[in-house]
Amino acid sequence: MTVTVEIARRGTGPQERRWVCPKCRSDHDPAAVKENLSVCPACGFHQRIGARERIAQLADEGTFVEYWGHLRTLDPLDFVDLEPYPERVREAQGASRLTEAIVAGTATIAATPCVLAVMDFGFMGGSMGSVVGEKLWRAAAAAADEGRPLVAVASSGGARMQEGALSLMQMAKTTCAVDVVNDARVPFVAVMADPCTGGVVASFVSLADICVAEPGALLYFSGPRVISQTTREQLPADFGSAERNLVLGHLDAIVPRAELKDKVANYLRLLKGGGQLDGLERRAASRPRGGRTRRLARAASTRVAAAFKNPGSESLGGSGPAPGSSEEPPA
Ligand SMILES: [Zn+2]
Repeated sequence: MTVTVEIARRGTGPQERRWVCPKCRSDHDPAAVKENLSVCPACGFHQRIGARERIAQLADEGTFVEYWGHLRTLDPLDFVDLEPYPERVREAQGASRLTEAIVAGTATIAATPCVLAVMDFGFMGGSMGSVVGEKLWRAAAAAADEGRPLVAVASSGGARMQEGALSLMQMAKTTCAVDVVNDARVPFVAVMADPCTGGVVASFVSLADICVAEPGALLYFSGPRVISQTTREQLPADFGSAERNLVLGHLDAIVPRAELKDKVANYLRLLKGGGQLDGLERRAASRPRGGRTRRLARAASTRVAAAFKNPGSESLGGSGPAPGSSEEPPA
């Protein structure tokens, strides 16, 4: 799935380039669009942005300090498709000026200190390989150690096929990373940016205390074409959109880019204690935290296991009426 962003040449001057919105087809001065946080001034279409631009928008000026930028992926499978994996990585590094598909470090957001990890779809489709998993793990561990909230901005096509099963294992690793943050009672806020799909949606992002998305972002595990071909069913036109995910309860809110910095900072302050909550935000903040969820899950599985061993026990939630007995309440 691709979104085409056209740069059209209009006017008389050869240097006069205009940005054409792929959604409403209006054209604008590229500098004005950039100034508007890369959002179409006419229709609000949110253009995809890279990790550096995202950090510049979210973090207070000059506060971001990058960590773990030295980590480089290996090629344990000697993977070659149309070209060798190391060659693809080098090309992505040259084009994006990043070392990997995630940039992580510490920053303040509206004066609230946090650990910030931002994925970049421009780097091999934001795919999650070993280095992305490791940097997310280290960011979570640092957040837990320092008692700083963790903020992750995810934009990804899913697992990195060139790393095979090692890439899939990052789903388990980053899920454990969220456990580390939860156990330390540190808030975790995730922002899903277009597109956020596959193993990233199915691991750490969806486990955040508060999970928001940008308007119009596509969020799904498998794409509509794959699902439609597998199930032979027509999917709704808005399948996978942030708006539909909100209705289905997969998201806590949709936040326009212009409000994102203040909202995220607000969430962090609220989750650390104090402040006023409203509506969706109150429900999100009152969800059980990870530690409690795990304890509840363990208790439930223990009860189920006991019930299977001893079907007559009361371990599945009290002694119901024996088969054949009256279910009438006592007079
Ligand atoms: Zn537009």
